[in-house]
Amino acid sequence: MSNPLIHPNITDAMRDKVAQKATSAIKLLKDAATEFQPIAFASSMGAEDMVLTDMIRRHDIAVEVFTLDTGRLPAETYDLMERSEHHYGARPVTWFPRHETVESYVRTHGINAFRDSVDLRKACCAMRKVEPLKRALAGKRAWITGMRAQQSTTRSDLPLREFDDSHGIEKFNPLADWTEREVWVYIHTHQVPYNELHEHFYPSIGCQPCTRAISPGEDIRAGRWWWENPDSKECGLHVKAG
Ligand code: SF4
Repeated sequence: MSNPLIHPNITDAMRDKVAQKATSAIKLLKDAATEFQPIAFASSMGAEDMVLTDMIRRHDIAVEVFTLDTGRLPAETYDLMERSEHHYGARPVTWFPRHETVESYVRTHGINAFRDSVDLRKACCAMRKVEPLKRALAGKRAWITGMRAQQSTTRSDLPLREFDDSHGIEKFNPLADWTEREVWVYIHTHQVPYNELHEHFYPSIGCQPCTRAISPGEDIRAGRWWWENPDSKECGLHVKAG
């Protein structure tokens, strides 16, 4: 069964509203690229990230697109990477974890130790995502994310622009005020490639062993680290100040 949430009924009014919001998001991307160079966009290949990739490529905005390959991504995400590359004729810069750290973690704790405790889960995210992100952002003056305020309780007060204390650079969230429905209206209007897993009720896609499908009515982030308390469900890529 395909997922009706990602195939909304698109009215003219909805299309106009999304076009207006897209104009604002593109202006923010262009202004950010003018004010801060070098600037990079961190894409995890999720639906929101594909919208921003489309805006950056379509309008030839001077932003480096990069992605973190944790080594534990689903096959569907690698498939999307390939399709996206063909679609846009451009390849994101890919960052991998340091192999010595991964080898040491797995030899000490086991291949799926992230399920044993929140600390081991955070340690896995730290070596597979947070440390590579630090290298990806080294030397950058600003970065861009596809986060939306509605995605979780940990993101409800997300601004369009903020100072990221943890990396010491400016951070832009051009889709902060978008709804999930608006994301999908943009995707279908512009024929943006997207992850096949979205068709199977995966709204938020990360590493394969830490992502599951959700049921209708469940929180969008319920499919991530579902064995943990909702308040601990961030991977450390987006640390709030204060
Ligand atoms: Fe490790 Fe899971 Fe975090 Fe991926 S999402 S880095 S597999 S704990």
